[in-house]
Amino acid sequence: MKLETKCIQAGYTPKNGESRMIPIVQSTTFKYDTSEDMGKLFDLEAEGYFYTRLQNPTNDYVAAKIAALEGGTAGMLTSSGQAATFYSVFNLAGCGDHVIASSAIYGGSYNLFNVTMRRMGIDFTFVDPECSDEELEAAFRPNTKCVFGETLANPALIVFDIERFAKAAHAHGVPLIIDNTFATPVNCRPIEWGADIVTHSTTKYMDGHDATVGGCIVDSGKFDWFAHADKFPGLTTPDESYHGITYAERFGLAGAFITKATAQLMRDLGSIPSPFNCYILNLGLESLAVRMDRHCANAQKVAEFLQANEHVSWVNYPGLPGNRFYERAQKYMPNGTCGVISFGVKGGRKAAEEFMKHLKVAMIATHVADAHTCVLHPASSTHRQMSDAELAAGGVSPDLIRLSVGIEHAEDIIADLEQALNCL
Ligand SMILES: *Cc1c(COP(=O)(O)O)cnc(C)c1O
Repeated sequence: MKLETKCIQAGYTPKNGESRMIPIVQSTTFKYDTSEDMGKLFDLEAEGYFYTRLQNPTNDYVAAKIAALEGGTAGMLTSSGQAATFYSVFNLAGCGDHVIASSAIYGGSYNLFNVTMRRMGIDFTFVDPECSDEELEAAFRPNTKCVFGETLANPALIVFDIERFAKAAHAHGVPLIIDNTFATPVNCRPIEWGADIVTHSTTKYMDGHDATVGGCIVDSGKFDWFAHADKFPGLTTPDESYHGITYAERFGLAGAFITKATAQLMRDLGSIPSPFNCYILNLGLESLAVRMDRHCANAQKVAEFLQANEHVSWVNYPGLPGNRFYERAQKYMPNGTCGVISFGVKGGRKAAEEFMKHLKVAMIATHVADAHTCVLHPASSTHRQMSDAELAAGGVSPDLIRLSVGIEHAEDIIADLEQALNCL
């Protein structure tokens, strides 16, 4: 099946007489005829549901759809993108371990790693995604457990060189985790470029309508945990908290990572999304390919308009020829990148704030990447915890305006930007 078809059909195939749409199984628990039947589920010997904190059919249909879109072997949904990021790393690294992350990642991921996960005893090295091979090489340590990057950095729009980082990670026997939120599998499938695990904030384009917060993790099933067994005892030695199961043995490469994340992390930390939210997410996924097409077409027109406008000092959109990442974007995302553009207004921070006051179609919101055009000044909002040096390392300048181009008519969006720019 082509991707557009998977958006509609993957993950759930109704049997004779069953509902065409995925059923919302809004139930915490599931009934069994005998204790033996239930016991087999607890031992992970039989497949089935017993408690929604661990698994729920509605959630699983949607996770399977996203796994199919990414070309992975298994997926799990979480109640937020933050939970997906946390689980993806914490499933591999614990106290005393080390992780390498791109410095150009979502601000929330940066804080999670640099503050909260450091407090758990996990050390992080942030590398410039454009660093030299020597610098990247020097970041690895014997206790490094994974490398983390973002396909299209939010909001700097740095296109991550997935292939290069995958090679470096694999040379050191560790997997590459990619946050693919902005590109979505419609525009980029990181697993095809060597990534081992893919995460999403489904809150963005996947839901696409400002309706639900959610996250997802997809495993490629390609990373050979046993080839690096000493680094990943959590996957290759018995889990005493779960009936002595060795995940990589019992579930193979295809299922080990996600089963461990479910059986340990979801069991203990419980960031499960509600089945109803998963149903809404599925509605968004059905139109994802069509919407991404429109987001990219609109953003291209808006970026070209901004570039030609006298009040605009610079425009950053990887779809513009001449952009620092144009060539790389053509390689990884030949059909388009995303709907998010960043730009600066002549007159810096003050002019940026003035410009935003006059917008009528584009709304000021912390959110990005959905149907409604919205706009944000990160230095005074989402990224305000970061120092100027940290901002610079993440590619965010104090005058940066982040514009998330929606799927309204491009002419209405451009007319709105034009009248606000004319007020300067
Ligand atoms: C929003 C976002 C997140 C966090 O997701 P939430 O659903 O808000 O928890 C992670 N990564 C990227 C790239 C994001 O844009």
